[in-house]
Amino acid sequence: MKSKKFLLEEKEIPTAWYNIMAEMKNKPRPILNPQTKQAMTVDDLQTLFTKAASEQELNMTDAWVEIPEEVRDMYKIWRPTPLVRAYGLEKMLDTPAHIYFKNESVSPVGSHKLNSAIPQAFYCKKEGVTNVTTETGAGQWGAALSMATKHFGLELAVYMVKVSYHQKPYRRSIMQTYGAQVIASPSMSTKAGRRILTDTPNYQGSLGTAISEAVELARSTPNCKYALGSVMNHVSLHQTVIGLEAEKQMAMTGEYPDVVIGCFGGGSNFAGISFPFMRHNFTGERNTRFVAAEPSSCPKLTRGELCYDFGDEAGYTPLMPMYTLGHKFSPANIHAGGLRYHGAGTIVSQLKIDGFVEAVDIQQTETFKAATLFAQAEGIIPAPESSHAIAAAIREAEQAKLEGKQKVILFNLSGHGLIDMTAYDQYIMGDLTNYEVPEEDIKSNIAGLDLII
Ligand SMILES: *Cc1c(COP(=O)(O)O)cnc(C)c1O
Repeated sequence: MKSKKFLLEEKEIPTAWYNIMAEMKNKPRPILNPQTKQAMTVDDLQTLFTKAASEQELNMTDAWVEIPEEVRDMYKIWRPTPLVRAYGLEKMLDTPAHIYFKNESVSPVGSHKLNSAIPQAFYCKKEGVTNVTTETGAGQWGAALSMATKHFGLELAVYMVKVSYHQKPYRRSIMQTYGAQVIASPSMSTKAGRRILTDTPNYQGSLGTAISEAVELARSTPNCKYALGSVMNHVSLHQTVIGLEAEKQMAMTGEYPDVVIGCFGGGSNFAGISFPFMRHNFTGERNTRFVAAEPSSCPKLTRGELCYDFGDEAGYTPLMPMYTLGHKFSPANIHAGGLRYHGAGTIVSQLKIDGFVEAVDIQQTETFKAATLFAQAEGIIPAPESSHAIAAAIREAEQAKLEGKQKVILFNLSGHGLIDMTAYDQYIMGDLTNYEVPEEDIKSNIAGLDLII
């Protein structure tokens, strides 16, 4: 096991996030108020999100947005994160490719989610908010926001997708240890939850349903805001610290990535690792490929349609122009809970239309095979979500071997899997299943949405 780390000093933590929308030639289409079909304004968004997040969401002009000092101070707990040359993995694959990964698993909660949880909690504090609601899939976002809200003295209620609540009880304990209230979703505590439980009593939940519940609670609680851990433009903005650091670290290696890979749930860690590199494609200076790796059981980028769709199951959010499987889509219970989301976000959707982003879909067993190989080669047990990026990186490395070509691969290790060992147990026992979504399911879920031609 021989890896090489490229480390930055604390003072090299970026001082500004990169706002890709300012430099996109074709801007993402506007998000719409579902009643009036008018473009949402900062004032509209502020009924749900903080003012700062609402402004960032719609900011199409400033390429750089300053990171507040209080946020940078918190980032110092674990940032800058290491960039690692995966010699062990290269050797096991016997590939001519050079493989690098950015290790976001070193954060206190074990994933990249803290990069956005901290600024979102900070803005709540600054704007005098006292209560926050959110949803969480596998529990990673909930854990990150629990830590961040506690630091800034805020109360947090988390709706956790029921299947994960039972599959990953330790993530619930982590959130409770940080002092958050955790509710399995769907629950009887909201109208949206009661409606779905009445129709389908055994429903195991989805991110879309948990979002509906969290939004409803935020709307009915005084001085309360809602915080989202992915999908939205402001979340992608905060995650660009990943790629900005990686860019400096790649310069230290003397190489530049030919392909940048991230796993894809709502798109935030993919945005984080790729947008800072993509800006050099916009100017024609570089021709890097960007690959989003999604599960075959939730294939919005590879098989979804470009539509105006809701971000949640009940239809409480604005309408967003994005690749989607339909907001009623109910993904199979795969272990990569953080990737079980029906839509792709507006920025990445536009970048895919414009040819800057490619997507691949990967079956669950291939991701666990890749994860196991990576653990044995590099010593880190990856999150089931991150294993999609690893599997895609391995495909690229094997392709390089077939073609006998040198290639530089960079992927984001979005989190570790030490709290996902029941999933590994199932893989070891040979009990994991693959899921392929029938074409009719996608068609029927999308029927009735406004297709964007
Ligand atoms: C939440 C999560 C993801 C998926 O979310 P994105 O917004 O697409 O990044 C991926 N990996 C890990 C470890 C996560 O916790």
